[in-house]
Amino acid sequence: METYSGKKIFSGVAIGRIFHYAKVESIISRKKITDVAAEIQRYEQAKEKAITQLKALYEKAVKEVGELNAQIFEVHSMMLGDDDYNDSVHNLISSQSVNSEYAVAMTGDNFADIFANMDDEYFKARAIDVKDISERVIGILSGAKGADNLSEPVIIVADDLAPSETVQMDKSKILGFVTRLGSANSHTAILARTMSIPALIGVDIKSEWNGKMAILDGVGGNIIIEPDEETLRLYEGKKKSEEEQKELLVQLIGKDTVSKSGHKINLYANIGNVTDLGAVLKNDAAGIGLFRSEFIYLEKEDFPTEEEQFKAYKQVAETMSGKKVIIRTLDIGADKQAEYFNLDKEDNPAMGYRAIRICLTQPEIFKTQLRAIFRASAFGTVSIMYPMITSVEEVREIKIIADEVKAELDNVGIPYGDVEQGIMIETPAAVMISDELAKEVDFFSIGTNDLTQYTLAIDRQNSKLDRFYNAHHTAILRMIKMVVDNAHKEGIWAGICGELGADLELTEEFLKMGVDELSVSPGMILPIRKAIRDSIN
Ligand code: PEP
Ligand code: MG
Repeated sequence: METYSGKKIFSGVAIGRIFHYAKVESIISRKKITDVAAEIQRYEQAKEKAITQLKALYEKAVKEVGELNAQIFEVHSMMLGDDDYNDSVHNLISSQSVNSEYAVAMTGDNFADIFANMDDEYFKARAIDVKDISERVIGILSGAKGADNLSEPVIIVADDLAPSETVQMDKSKILGFVTRLGSANSHTAILARTMSIPALIGVDIKSEWNGKMAILDGVGGNIIIEPDEETLRLYEGKKKSEEEQKELLVQLIGKDTVSKSGHKINLYANIGNVTDLGAVLKNDAAGIGLFRSEFIYLEKEDFPTEEEQFKAYKQVAETMSGKKVIIRTLDIGADKQAEYFNLDKEDNPAMGYRAIRICLTQPEIFKTQLRAIFRASAFGTVSIMYPMITSVEEVREIKIIADEVKAELDNVGIPYGDVEQGIMIETPAAVMISDELAKEVDFFSIGTNDLTQYTLAIDRQNSKLDRFYNAHHTAILRMIKMVVDNAHKEGIWAGICGELGADLELTEEFLKMGVDELSVSPGMILPIRKAIRDSIN
């Protein structure tokens, strides 16, 4: 039995086997081989395994997201069977006596270049697919393990996890996360909170842990590898009492979120995916205060169509049956990267070409999303919220585009609802001009994750800076108060959808400030409801 410690992201106890998630090496080394026939056979076996994986992924995707969305896996398995592709790999192995990993990487790069230079948009887009299939085969050859096909619930252990990786994982099979890198405010940490599962970062993880039994103690901040019987019994007891605590909170389902003095707060949930809706309903959220729509984009290999987006937004609106659903428009960039956006590598991506800046520069992407949201608004109570706002001019430009979309829908007789439009207040600039911005929009939602990053000049992705990332900093609390006051002066509401909204140490303070709404991960709804009901403010 061995114990390793790390920084706590979400409390709770998980007991299960470890799955060591390993990425494909980004630099493939070229190695000389002596037995060409054996190397070709090694490639063929890896290729067959990749095709089997893709078939399983196809079956799973048909059930979960429908035939149309599943087709990509079929396309990938056909590409792996392509004669030109396979001939190229075989030729490289035999003519240059190189290892399969190198031959596949070279073939993948060459074919991707050929596709990328074609005129036809369809073939151009296949460049990403050919890279993807090559990475899958290299992953198998080099023993890297993906987590998209897990057979039993596991504790995921990894060096680091990007949102584009976690989005592929089967969430029902994840008991907890443990990573070496990543910061307390990264999107993987947010995902763990959304899923209400224990998570640790900054742990000195080992690949040999793969397959071993472990206890993930999100309360004490430890992972215990191969626990002895006594420790296992102790933690099973802890897990049981944790479940009993949760049962007590269940009594608050159906109750109002109102303090002893009658102060009512709208308590909403943050989601990243339609699959989070179950947790939203189970925890009795009064609405959805932040739907991080970019996860729809991260799941795809190419831009999601208007129809695909419409289906997702409609499903959320209908499931919430009339309760408010606030959809945040695309917030891609920085740590949330999708290859098909072809974003340049930047020195300061958090301050770079991201979120609304992409939408205003490439309005066709923006309009597709807005059309999908407005169409879905006919099926529930939908609001739109725009991220990363820094000026009144941006808001005016957005409103013109939104009006154009509405006019286009009117022209073809497509109905849409009465959609409130608000903005995220997550830059210091937006705070300072919140009096002017309040005249332009229907509501404010304070994104404390980014607001803290920009105000304290601390990269939220950098785990070394976690101890300096003080979201309780007086500067942040004063900013929240200023935004709420400026909103109320113009008769609009202001809420908090950043992680700080779920901080139980500040619930009283937020009540005193007059915050109208808190939007938190589904697992935090009932603990916050309890704190508000217990408060005298
Ligand atoms: C925030 O910045 O506080 C926020 C809610 O948005 P995200 O965490 O997705 O950047
Ligand atoms: Mg943000």
